[in-house]
Amino acid sequence: MNCLRRCWAEIDLDSIKYNIEQYRGYLKGGTQLLCVVKANCYGHSDKLVVPYLEKLGVKWFAVSNLIEAEHLRALGVDGEIIILGYSPEENADDLIKYNIIQACTEYAYAKKLSDSAKTGKVRLHAAIDTGMTRIGLHGDAASDADEIQKIMALENVTVEGMFTHYAVADCADNESIAYTKAQTEKILAVDEELKKRGVELSCVHFLNSAGGIYHSNEKSALARLGIILYGLYPDPSNPLPFEPKPVMTLKAVISQVKYIEKGTTVSYGRTYTADKRIKLATVTAGYADGFPRALSGKGEVIIKGVRCPIVGRICMDQFMCDVSALDDVQEGDIATLFGSEITADDIAKITGTIGYEVVCGIAERVPRIIV
Ligand SMILES: *Cc1c(COP(=O)(O)O)cnc(C)c1O
Repeated sequence: MNCLRRCWAEIDLDSIKYNIEQYRGYLKGGTQLLCVVKANCYGHSDKLVVPYLEKLGVKWFAVSNLIEAEHLRALGVDGEIIILGYSPEENADDLIKYNIIQACTEYAYAKKLSDSAKTGKVRLHAAIDTGMTRIGLHGDAASDADEIQKIMALENVTVEGMFTHYAVADCADNESIAYTKAQTEKILAVDEELKKRGVELSCVHFLNSAGGIYHSNEKSALARLGIILYGLYPDPSNPLPFEPKPVMTLKAVISQVKYIEKGTTVSYGRTYTADKRIKLATVTAGYADGFPRALSGKGEVIIKGVRCPIVGRICMDQFMCDVSALDDVQEGDIATLFGSEITADDIAKITGTIGYEVVCGIAERVPRIIV
């Protein structure tokens, strides 16, 4: 079947290329690019995006779990893949089989992986908790180094690197800047301590999207590029030195256009009443497609270049908008729900979340197509 012309997400690979080219300009020294492709490329489709990233020369990828990692291998990806999240120890041999690097939270976890692995050694990057307070070793430099050495002594694991994750690298206030600097210093202190003991890890990394721009540092072997790859902002209130181009455009077809009289109510709950005769269009996308119900009576969509207000509640598969401003609009015309003019970040602002959640929330039933 051809792509169903109801609601779909267009993926613009040229924008990916642009975002990567711009971003690379801010990396220092030998910092290499790692593309974070977890959650199906933040909802953009790993099947469409990751092979293209490999074509652009990207050698490192990060996902959240083994299912995502295996999927990349099935797509033919032969770059390095790091699982930033958790894999249960019963999957130790799958990590080996698919040649995946696993984030390691602590010694006890490494021990379980080592005890479970029967077919080789599990490759690890030790997570260092320098202030995110999520995962990783969380002592001082000496005790973290002790723990890493203990992990290294386990039979069926190898520690190839270590990493940390910033909590506020996207924030522009002085306190956040100081906090991020302190996080950097902490992981570098662990690295120093290990070097003093004659242990050299080949891959120490700590930059995320925002870090690579605002806290670029040649000591980070990798910059883990996520949200900016997809053309959105780590923090929309903090400008970037270049304007990233949104990669996903969500579109849907108009199924009906009609006039409604003054006093007519629209959609569930009758939250909207026409205060005059208006022209109303029904758009074939709803919250089951990931178009947030919180946009009920709030957002706008773009039809033929004109912003048309959403009226009444968003339904599961449809919603209505006021198209009185358009002379020529009919069934079969296309509405753009978000993309480069109204961005996922704009939607997030209205609905009280972040652009990340908007794009990750686009449902599986929405076909992704390359444009
Ligand atoms: C998700 C994630 C990233 C990417 O974050 P962005 O803000 O999208 O750049 C980087 N590193 C880790 C550990 C992550 O979990």
